[in-house]
Order: sequence, then C-alpha cells, then structure tokens
Amino acid sequence: MSTELIQLTAAQAVAAIERGEVDPGELFGAYAKRIEQEQIGAFLSVNENNDAAEVGAGKPLAGVPIAIKDLFCIKGIESRAASAILNGYLPPYSATAVEKLAQAGASILGKTNMDEFAMGSSNENSAFGAVKNPWDQTRVPGGSSGGSAAAVAAGLAPWATGTDTGGSIRQPASLCGLVGLKPTYGSVSRYGMIAFASSLDQAGPITRDVTDAALMLKHMEGRDPRDSTSSGLPETVAMPTADDLAGLRFGIPSGFDWSGVQPGVKAVFDAATARIETAGGELVEVDLPHAAYGLSAYYLIAPAEASANLARFDGVRFGQRAEHAGSLLEMYERTRGEGFGTEVKRRIMLGTYALSSGYYDAYYGKAQRVRTKIFMDFKVAFEKCDFIVTPTSPTVAFEIGSRVDDPLAMYLSDYFTVPISLAGIPAVSVPAGLASADGAAAVDADAAGALPVGLQIAGPAFSENKLLNAALAFEKATAFPAGPWSWG
Ligand code: GLN
Repeated sequence: MSTELIQLTAAQAVAAIERGEVDPGELFGAYAKRIEQEQIGAFLSVNENNDAAEVGAGKPLAGVPIAIKDLFCIKGIESRAASAILNGYLPPYSATAVEKLAQAGASILGKTNMDEFAMGSSNENSAFGAVKNPWDQTRVPGGSSGGSAAAVAAGLAPWATGTDTGGSIRQPASLCGLVGLKPTYGSVSRYGMIAFASSLDQAGPITRDVTDAALMLKHMEGRDPRDSTSSGLPETVAMPTADDLAGLRFGIPSGFDWSGVQPGVKAVFDAATARIETAGGELVEVDLPHAAYGLSAYYLIAPAEASANLARFDGVRFGQRAEHAGSLLEMYERTRGEGFGTEVKRRIMLGTYALSSGYYDAYYGKAQRVRTKIFMDFKVAFEKCDFIVTPTSPTVAFEIGSRVDDPLAMYLSDYFTVPISLAGIPAVSVPAGLASADGAAAVDADAAGALPVGLQIAGPAFSENKLLNAALAFEKATAFPAGPWSWG
C-alpha cells in the first residue's frame, strides 16, 4: 500500500483524500518511513509529528505532505540555509510562502538540504554534505535546491519548495527529471526566506508534473505587506488544461554560445522543438543579443547583494558564535571564518570588491547596465513570440566532485537560466527527454544510465497561467518516463 501511495502526485493525492480513499496520516507515514531510510542526504531535519489529518481537514491541500527547502524559516524549527553559521538558529516566525502552504492544508515533512545560502549548482556546497541524484547516485542532483529535487525524484516527498536566484529551481528540476517553476519576481513573498540576492531571489515549486506546479504556485503566491517587493500574481492561478500549442509562437533565441552544450542535450532540445511544432506551436527566431553576458553580470550583482545580506551573520544576532574570542572584532572574524564555507566566502569577497569605492562603477554599475540591456532584449523578443525556449542546463547531471575545484565550470550550469532571473520573468523547466550519461547522445527510456534533460520555457512577466498551460501541453506531447520514485 505505501509504495502505491507514493505514486500519487500531490493533485492526485488531494483528490484521493477528498474521495475518502486515502488517509492523509497514512500518506504522511508512508513518506516519513521512506525518509527514515533514505541514503541520499536529501533531508536535514524531519517533522516527527504526523498531524496531516488535523492540518489538512477541510482545506484545499487536504494534508498532503510537502518538503521545505532549508532556506525558508519555519517558526521554532532550526533553519540554517545549510550553513554552519546558522547552527541552532530557531526563527521566531515562518516564511510567508510556508505559512500560506500550511494554511492551505499542506503538512510539512521536513527541511531539505541545499547549497549553503543557495550558492551553488550541485548541492556540494552544503555544510551538511552532498546530495546524491536518485537517477544515478554517483552524480549531483543540481543546486541549489538539490535536496528538494532529489527528495521529489526519490519519492521521499510528493513535491517540495525551492528557491531560484539564478537557476536553483530550474536546474535541479532538469537534472532530476522534474518540473521546476521560477515565478515572476515578486509573485511569491520573500518574507522569511533567508536572503541571498534580494533583487533576484524567488520561491517556487519543484514537482513531478505541471499540474502540481500550478497547484503549489496557487497556494504560495500573493502580495504580502511584509515584503515590499512582492506584488502577487494579477490573476488567480488556474489549473492548466491545454491539450495543444495551437496559435502559440515559441522563440528560439540567437545570442547564446552553444559550444558548451552537450550534443545529447542539443539533440533532446531539437526533438523538443520539433514536438512543439507537431503540437501546433510555431517556431520563430528571436535575438537576445546580450543574454550571453548574463553570467558575467550575475556574478557581480548576486555576490554584491550577498555580501550586504550576509553582513548580518556576525555571531551576535543569529546562530553560531565563535568561543573564547579576546575582543569583539576577533569574535566577528572567527565566527565568520569558522561559520561560512569556501564558496560563501568567495562570494562575499567578490561582492565586497565589486561594491568598493573606486570599483563600484566599473563592476557593479556596469553589471546593472547589462542587466537593463538583457531586460530590454526580452521585452523586444516577446513582441515576436509568446515564449522563449532553451535547454535548462547545458549538461546532464555531472559526477559528484567533478566540478568542485573549478568554480567557473560550476557557474556555467546556469548559462541559460541566469538571463531570465536578471529579467525577472517566469520560466519553467519541463522534462523533455533523456541523454546518455556522458551527454553524447539522446537515448530512449530503456537505455542503461540514461539521464534527464529539461526544456526551459520562459514567458513575459506575470504570464504564469499561460506559461503553465503551454508547459502542460508540452508535457502531454512528451513521453517522459516516471522517475526513480516508481522504480520500487
Ligand atoms: N547556481 C547559481 C549560483 O550559485 C544560482 C543559485 C540560485 O539560484 N540560488 O549563484
């Protein structure tokens, strides 16, 4: 029974509970048992208290369990963003997004592993260990929401929250064969999310299918007076129903350098665009002349904002404090020296440098001007098309350890996702096909060691309903196999 239970998507589980066929406490228990036995490092803490029936009674999400990325504060539950510096930090409040999901009747399974402060693309930057990709446990699940993606792919949760600053929902979703949606900046409140780069951070769903992504978004979004940059979505999120892509124009952008894209990923992408046409969509060429500069701009803007946001972790206000320091300054230095990991320190130093007087204009100011150009590129492109499609990640999931000594290779994972973040627009990664483990070729579902490849579909700001409908039609047109949760 419990293996059958975990085959249900969240929307299916809600319906089954409402029909009285599934008991929410039993569903929660089935997942809790699997989490107890998990060997992939996806969870940092678990909720021992199975109150799914109580939490869900009469509510739209009916007690269906959910995993929450450790970046979200939950009142009274250790919330660390996978950083040692936040050891012992018990937030006095919960993130609005989590509160909304709980109020809608979702029951919290626990908190998932991630790259420290969401800085990374492989989950290897966690202070609490790497996470294994359930498709191939020698490989990374992607990052920074790697624990959330691995948990959903492995059947440790039906769905999970993620956050995306430059690709952290979409890239792990792609590498784990899942759907990941980064909503328009401002749709979901950032209140109670541990801040990385505030002008880019956005929460969203990681799910097995597009319907679940819409369902979670519906119960996450909304204007929140506690986050002045939040706007909510202009219309209520509707469950997608589209069967085809008739009348929709899909822009294939020039402006990207494809030399770092694996041939297998390119082949899956070409097959995906062919299916878009078969499903009634029209392919058009668009130009994003500045998109290729996205990564360079992002790696100035995001570290600059991070260096300011992370200044608050000084050993006084939150979490861990270095002991036996002789002076206040020494206490600050030792707390930060001991508490932050290598990548976080690298970003703080890069960001502080980019903001320092004399360099501010040359680096941060220039990066902001590039950001505006990229924003304008998308605006112009969307005059010619409804959506823009690219691969989500240039490569399939790579081996654990293979990029840890090469930050630039790691940063390239977000080549296609970062420009969208800079423009603030929504994008979804949908499973598009499989490639061989070396990325050399597209392969069939029965090929040994096949790994998932995602298609990124981006739309104009606040086009979530239309975007999710297109994503659903694409999902229907794609014969993507059920993931590791179904392997038994
Ligand atoms: N991989 C990117 C980074 O390390 C994006 C991370 C994210 O979206 N949180 O900054």
